[in-house]
Amino acid sequence: MAAMLQPQIILLKEGTDTAQGKAQVISNINACTTVADAVRSTLGPRGMDKLIHDDKGNTTISNDGATIMKLLDIVHPAAKILVDIAKSQDSEVGDGTTTVVLLAGEFLKEGKPFIEDGVHSQNLIRSYRTASRLAINKIKELAVSIEGKSLEEKKTLLAKCAATTLSSKLIGGEKEFFASMVVDAVLAIGDDDRLNLIGIKKVPGGNMRDSFLVNGVAFKKTFSYAGFEQQPKKFVKPKILLLNIELELKSEKENAEIRLSDPSQYQSIVDAEWNIIYDKLDKCVQSGAKIVLSRLAIGDLATQYFADRDIFCAGRVTEEDLQRVAAATGGTVQTSVNNVIDEVLGSCEVFEERQVGNERFNIFSGCPSGQTATIVLRGGADQFIDEAERSLHDAIMIVRRAVKNSTVVAGGGAIDMEISRYLRQHARTIAGKSQLFINSYAKALEVIPRQLCDNAGFDATDVLNKLRQKHASGEGANYGVDINTGGIADSFANFVWEPSVVKINAINAATEAACLILSVDETVKNPKIH
Ligand code: ADP
Ligand code: MG
Repeated sequence: MAAMLQPQIILLKEGTDTAQGKAQVISNINACTTVADAVRSTLGPRGMDKLIHDDKGNTTISNDGATIMKLLDIVHPAAKILVDIAKSQDSEVGDGTTTVVLLAGEFLKEGKPFIEDGVHSQNLIRSYRTASRLAINKIKELAVSIEGKSLEEKKTLLAKCAATTLSSKLIGGEKEFFASMVVDAVLAIGDDDRLNLIGIKKVPGGNMRDSFLVNGVAFKKTFSYAGFEQQPKKFVKPKILLLNIELELKSEKENAEIRLSDPSQYQSIVDAEWNIIYDKLDKCVQSGAKIVLSRLAIGDLATQYFADRDIFCAGRVTEEDLQRVAAATGGTVQTSVNNVIDEVLGSCEVFEERQVGNERFNIFSGCPSGQTATIVLRGGADQFIDEAERSLHDAIMIVRRAVKNSTVVAGGGAIDMEISRYLRQHARTIAGKSQLFINSYAKALEVIPRQLCDNAGFDATDVLNKLRQKHASGEGANYGVDINTGGIADSFANFVWEPSVVKINAINAATEAACLILSVDETVKNPKIH
């Protein structure tokens, strides 16, 4: 009776939605499993692509976990965490985005029965963290270094790595062609960390094989005014002036307010404007540059002026392209044309405006600092080229990681099987419930080879049994799914490699995400304020 008289305590605003306890954990797990199911079929070389179209009518075809997750527009708060780890995997290492989502989903799925049985999340979390630490140490132990090889050898090895990444993509059919292009591009930029030094330019039409690599910078011809046709389109060893100013007549007039009392004064203002622009143009010419690029507009007057003096110009060059030209040619972008000294001018071996498909391209090759490369991608539909670009991005990231960390592990589920075996073995040495938890973690890792089989139409149970046996025998650590025959094969010998950092990051991120979701037992949704 006393309890009934107690006033109800209202802590949160009316309309607040809360969900708590075990039921909440389970519901979050279910949401994450659904998300993992959405990307499941894209894993591996035989993975399928997804066609996503949004309410604006844009369609995207992709195999890339991060891209799909981004486009799925997931609203469930817990499932959003998976979107975030896919994104972070994409930005940290560039590949393994499907893997990370699948692993997280599987860790949760394996943990679900325990939660249902009343195991406290924290116990599960503790064991998962231990398992993850052990797994990562094992990967580091198994990783093989490609350091200390000759450049040629290294190139072949890196190309193999890139080919593995590309094999699961739409352009997989031409993986060797693109893999060597990617390796050349990455080696061209050397140690520089800035990814944007490798540009990818898309030109719809033509054949994939018409794609080519420029050892330098290339960008689509910018909008140009009359007079442009008279400018020379090819230079050998030109000096290049990079600007961030407008070379247009109208600019002065629009930047100022002028009050006149006598109409005759107007002429002097107009004259002054002409003088200002001619003065600027003169200074550009005097600098000795044969090519003038500006981030801002270069108007018709300037275009004609430069044409008369055999100078090439391009206005409205994008910031990114301009920066890449600066990095490649050794020039510095100027914000004024006063005192343009020789040091700020860039140079290159050959500048050329060339026709690619039905676009014209400005191409700077043989650049002194050599730290840029541009891949000009050709191919049919827009969606196709877009996906090809994303695939190349993955491959570029992989090669860069491999160059930097230079250790690789066997792919095709081999490394996953091996860690799984190792963890099961380890679990046997520990007593108590955590043995079960670590076993579940180990089982979850098998999702990678299983999914590779499923997606290729193989009998996953059969292949997994063979793999378990092989790994248990103690000498099959590198055995993974053979995507060509439906059996098992030494992935390492078949050059199905993955940089170890991809796996380490994926396991780390997936475990953290799973633990995070397991540790949330209450969701509070504030009412909308109207
Ligand atoms: P993610 O977005 O996780 O990188 P992918 O669709 O690129 O997903 O698939 C990667 C998986 O496919 C890795 O586990 C990799 O080892 C495996 N894989 C790639 N090429 C092959 C191959 N030729 N044979 C077997 N497995 C492969
Ligand atoms: Mg991949």
